[in-house]
Amino acid sequence: MKIRGAVLEEIGRAPKYADSTPLTICDLELDEPAGDEILVRIECAGICHSDLSVVNGDRVRPVPMLLGHEAAGIVEQAGDSVTDLVPGDRVVMTFLPRCGQCRGCRSNGLLPCSEGTASNTKGTLLSGQVRLHRGGEDVLHHLGVSGFATHAVVDKRSVVKVPADVPPEVAALLGCAVLTGGGAVLNLARPEPGDTLVVVGLGGVGMAALLTARALGAEVIGIDANEEKLGQARSLGASAAYTPAAAAELGITAPTVVEAAGNTRAFETAVALTEPGGTTITVGLPAPDAMAQVSPLMLVAEARTIIGSYLGSAVPARDVPVFADLWRQGRLPVEKLVSARIRLEDINAAMDDLAGGRALRQIIHFEGEASG
Ligand SMILES: [Zn+2]
Ligand SMILES: [Zn+2]
Repeated sequence: MKIRGAVLEEIGRAPKYADSTPLTICDLELDEPAGDEILVRIECAGICHSDLSVVNGDRVRPVPMLLGHEAAGIVEQAGDSVTDLVPGDRVVMTFLPRCGQCRGCRSNGLLPCSEGTASNTKGTLLSGQVRLHRGGEDVLHHLGVSGFATHAVVDKRSVVKVPADVPPEVAALLGCAVLTGGGAVLNLARPEPGDTLVVVGLGGVGMAALLTARALGAEVIGIDANEEKLGQARSLGASAAYTPAAAAELGITAPTVVEAAGNTRAFETAVALTEPGGTTITVGLPAPDAMAQVSPLMLVAEARTIIGSYLGSAVPARDVPVFADLWRQGRLPVEKLVSARIRLEDINAAMDDLAGGRALRQIIHFEGEASG
């Protein structure tokens, strides 16, 4: 079928992206779903920092690639081997398909799936197939999803079904921002009511960590170098919010600190704000060559723990329903992460807003997009 999507043509084009247009909005051919695959009509897709990291070259992927990995939509067609999903189901896309067999898949969410990681690196679906084409040429899949499009064919292990009462915007956010930031809190920090948690880096993932900690009854202190984010954090329920410099000056520390910014300085800040005996949980994805300084003596003498958490150490099929329930109970107002609602055509300018720190989550709505 013919679809419309946003294809990254080349890595590393210079900002301003509204002018250099690294992403082309174009028509593509999408194959029918086969075997374990499903065809999904995309309702909403969120623009995440990991998309920007591909555009700016921090995370190198093969191109041309149809970007987007935080999305939700309605199943329109299921391959022959799919028994647990039917047309009409609303599904959340997750950005690391799990084969269910490998060592990573048996690690209770701690390790990524090795097969899913391999297919994501190549830009294929979990089956190794490419279902997207343009003018006879293959266009690669982003993290098994490619959600910046009117439709996607994905492996059934790339999605989690959600009840129909979960709105598409909320559903999309559950798949990346909430699973990553919230998962780190739910699965690793595990705060008791009244505990204090520090969150460093107040983008979509950090704010999702904040909301989840609040949902579990914890107090949250937000940290970000961008002062605008501090007011937003307070309005999302943080009891206090500071720049890293102000936090250091005030001597702020907490037993558990979540780092969600994905750069060396934020990681070092997070370690510095962790009190002796405490735990630093890092979920951000810095550039591959980034190196941080940590004192090994301090780790030992102050009995510190540093935990790396990929995708919030989440098992999507287990954790997405937990977050959906918290949302339904009114305890996790995921929709507050939405800072703008945009059209697919606005995507390059949206990358500028994200790069400039002006956006929390910009959501593309596909209702009414031409396709057929
Ligand atoms: Zn993401
Ligand atoms: Zn696996």
